[in-house]
Amino acid sequence: MSTSLIATVAVAAPIEKTLSYLVPDSLRETAVVGMRLQVPLGRRRVVGYLLALTEGDPAGLKAISEVLDAAPLFAAEMVPFFTRAAEYYCHPIGEVVRTALPAGLSGRGGSVSILREKIYTATDLAGEPAGALQKEVLALVRQSGPLALSELRRSVATPYGALRRLVELAYLTETEEERLRDPFLSLPVTVEVVPEPTTEQALVLGEIETALESRSFAPFVLHGVTGSGKTEVYLRAIETALAQGRRALVLVPEIALTPQLVARFRSRFDGGRATIAVLHSGLSDGERYDAWRAIARGEVEIVIGARSAVFAPLQDLGIIVIDEEHEASYKQGEGFRYHARDLALLRAQMAGAVVLLGSATPAVTTFHRAQSGQTGLLALSGRVLERPLPQVELVDMKATPFGEYLSEPLAEALQLTLERGEQSLLLLNRRGFAPYLLCSDCGTTFRCPNCEITLTFHQERRQLRCHYCDFIQAPPELCPNCNGGNVLPEGVGTERLETELAERFPDARIARMDRDTTTRKGAHQQLMEQMSRREIDILVGTQMIAKGHDFHGVTLVGVVNADSTLNFPDFRSAERTFSLLTQVAGRAGRGELEGRVLIQTYSPDHYALTCAAQHDYQEFYRQEIAFREVLDYPPFGHLVNLVLSGNDGQKVARAAEALTTALQNAVGEVEVLGPAPCPLARLRGKTRVQILLKAPTRLPLRRLLLRLPQLRKQIPAGVGLTVDVDPVDML
Ligand code: ADP
Ligand code: ZN
Repeated sequence: MSTSLIATVAVAAPIEKTLSYLVPDSLRETAVVGMRLQVPLGRRRVVGYLLALTEGDPAGLKAISEVLDAAPLFAAEMVPFFTRAAEYYCHPIGEVVRTALPAGLSGRGGSVSILREKIYTATDLAGEPAGALQKEVLALVRQSGPLALSELRRSVATPYGALRRLVELAYLTETEEERLRDPFLSLPVTVEVVPEPTTEQALVLGEIETALESRSFAPFVLHGVTGSGKTEVYLRAIETALAQGRRALVLVPEIALTPQLVARFRSRFDGGRATIAVLHSGLSDGERYDAWRAIARGEVEIVIGARSAVFAPLQDLGIIVIDEEHEASYKQGEGFRYHARDLALLRAQMAGAVVLLGSATPAVTTFHRAQSGQTGLLALSGRVLERPLPQVELVDMKATPFGEYLSEPLAEALQLTLERGEQSLLLLNRRGFAPYLLCSDCGTTFRCPNCEITLTFHQERRQLRCHYCDFIQAPPELCPNCNGGNVLPEGVGTERLETELAERFPDARIARMDRDTTTRKGAHQQLMEQMSRREIDILVGTQMIAKGHDFHGVTLVGVVNADSTLNFPDFRSAERTFSLLTQVAGRAGRGELEGRVLIQTYSPDHYALTCAAQHDYQEFYRQEIAFREVLDYPPFGHLVNLVLSGNDGQKVARAAEALTTALQNAVGEVEVLGPAPCPLARLRGKTRVQILLKAPTRLPLRRLLLRLPQLRKQIPAGVGLTVDVDPVDML
């Protein structure tokens, strides 16, 4: 028997297992683990990822067609991590690797070009061109000096024609640069004074340093309110890891990935002390690819990024920081449904790294880990510089006339804050003008034809919109049912609140921050800057306003409707409410001035609210964990949510029945709940049914999931099945 070089390949296709291919002699030198390949699969050719090379028997194996990369995209030590992740989430390994790699790489090599930025420089030519747009663009470049196209586009959406003309007329010259320019790089680095750690910080850092020295897996929950100095702890812990010659990964929720945070890291590690790569959603495919390769080549010491950065190909990882670890955005909601925090723990375990799970309101499951000794617990108990926590009051809305959105106390507080020249934040978790339109004569409402949920009324755009599938229709003048003329908006969204505030406080400068006002690139950033410069008196917004910034002028925070999250049909609704309220309350009084928080609610006695008002995480945890235990919810029970969906409702229902029966017959110990319609029973035209699997430990669930590929074969065409291990959002 002759032996040959055999490649273990994960193909980018929904295939459970890896496949083996022969490495032809011509590719022996070029094929390296971590590269993309082209391989034959049936009659097609597909992209695959090279996971391992072994000597073996080539009999019956097809050969690799082509090697697509010149350098590996990940090191061999990442392979066991990918494998474990695929197993844990019951997801095809090739899809896992595809999700892990930067977007735009799933095709052939070279499909992503290295980004070259066009830079425009004004010439000595005096005078003015004719067109208005040309004048505007020229003025911009003359004012700013050499300007990159991407920067220019923040002021002028489509400058291309004007630029071409200006170059032709010799007002501008055009050059190309390979250097990336993005908002995170162009922000000036302010040199921050490095503070001496407080006694508490020093204690916490002592424990982290001991763990780093042991060079073995050591997870910690870092519990501290906003402003308690967690970021300072991250910075120093990372310094220690870098001093050991190891590297650091910092995960933050996308919304918190602000230039301010990045500037703080850059300021600390500036002057060539460490190279930082920032992976954020604003990067083009090319920029992301560049950053990725630099990391894979070992040129980067610190990676900062959102969820998907957990796959960054860093080697010699010493520390992983997960800031705001309780954030739901760490869970990927489609395709490969991983949780970045849980994968970070897995990765750190395999790398022998320290993990810091930072939060003011740790997830109940995370805090339970600390309580049961699976992770360490580090606490920062107060705010740095003894700044007091804001005073929080619950306002019982039962005392406010029905139909009014602002209670007397909140309206008065807004007035007072305005008079003092201070700023207010108002949180309302519903965008648009009103949650629905209602015919007050016959009671008709308007639903999305694809999703069967009520359409939100947007007044500015005169639209009824579905917030799930983006279906849009014009609002009717007359009721289509009774022809009556009293079709009126019901309830309140951010747009309506903004309008009504403007009527009530005509002199106030009011702005709104939600998905509708921040779709334009740079709009979010612009609103934040206006807040910092105190050009806004009242900022109305969805949960976007609760996160990731530090406005020193804000002394009043109002929560318009705390019940909207509390009444969500999900066992985590109390946890989410507590965490959101704590977070938004933390936005008050960040500067010299004391802050005040008013929370409007119909359930002022609910523990999620009373504990948030008292800043009492421990008490919240005590009550919440008791509730979880009674109902066998996480951390006491483990969940897997199976969702079947398809266009044909009856077919989906039959498939769900059959699958449920098969699952019930398969293994004991696992509770099979359902099938039941999903809370969103129709979404984007598809009927959706769920089966919830619940077990006291993971093992029986794992055994059951191992049978899933087999069971999947019995599901008819036209019905899709998604598997969500440790679901976060069960709508
Ligand atoms: P968190 O991440 O918990 O919100 P930060 O690390 O951002 O807290 O700290 C809050 C504020 O206190 C920041 O302005 C930070 O610069 C400052 N700060 C943190 N640690 C210290 C310290 N030891 N001495 C003085 N100021 C500090
Ligand atoms: Zn819809």
